[in-house]
Amino acid sequence: MELIELREDRARFLLKGVKPAFANAIRRACLSEVPSLAIDEISIYDNTSVLFDEQLSLRLGLVPIKADDLSLFSVPEECECGGAGCPACQVGMTLTAEGPCTVHSGDIRFADPGVKVAFEKIPIAILGEGEKLMLEGIVTLNRGTLHAKWQSGTHCGYKNLPDIQIADHCEGCGKCVEVCPRKILVIGEAGGKLEVTDPTNCSLCKLCVNECDVGAIKVVPIEDVFVMKIDTAGSMTAKDLVAGAAAEVKRRASQLSEQLSELA
Ligand code: SF4
Ligand code: SF4
Ligand SMILES: [Zn+2]
Repeated sequence: MELIELREDRARFLLKGVKPAFANAIRRACLSEVPSLAIDEISIYDNTSVLFDEQLSLRLGLVPIKADDLSLFSVPEECECGGAGCPACQVGMTLTAEGPCTVHSGDIRFADPGVKVAFEKIPIAILGEGEKLMLEGIVTLNRGTLHAKWQSGTHCGYKNLPDIQIADHCEGCGKCVEVCPRKILVIGEAGGKLEVTDPTNCSLCKLCVNECDVGAIKVVPIEDVFVMKIDTAGSMTAKDLVAGAAAEVKRRASQLSEQLSELA
């Protein structure tokens, strides 16, 4: 693994020496198998807004929620309480507002001070004069495989790293530079030779290859090196998401290995 970029909400890295199935397993685990928090059940006591209760519930369910220490929480089915409900698998929330105002995600209150919304300014509802909202609910930890509201990753993808080969007979005409949509080809100042600035940003579109009249450039995907790009929904850092995905793939591989050894 070689890090290209690490932000709070995004990780880009090279994954080397693996098959596409492994890169895809990491991608899928980032998307939907690393557990995160989401509002799961809602009791609405008052809703005189223009939104139906169902619309309101859907919006609240999709608000990304983070915790100071996510390891303190368990998926209800895997909790010691057996899913009956305890502080390890349930956190209470309330939302009360009266118009005129715009109700934002930041107006949600949680019973656990270590739990908070990932973004304060997600609009939930616009309340007119005298319109009210009063509701309470339960936040639980679960996986995106059960419902999209628990997805920890948003845009998670991969592509092969290209080997961009420039032959000696390249004339440095710059025609490929003009057509490259990622602007990663340049004619170097010293000697006027064609150079590649950032092969990890190449989309493998091969427009440069088609544009070259003398066949001086080749773009060849490296079969066992992948450029991974992982964006989080905000409920955890990109670093925690990738580490969680790797742990999840490892857990599943161990499970499969155990099951196979029982069959043998
Ligand atoms: S690779 Fe082809 S199109 Fe690009 S600068 Fe060289 S000769 Fe020109
Ligand atoms: S394959 Fe496409 S993105 Fe990559 S260098 Fe060529 S033109 Fe640019
Ligand atoms: Zn519990």
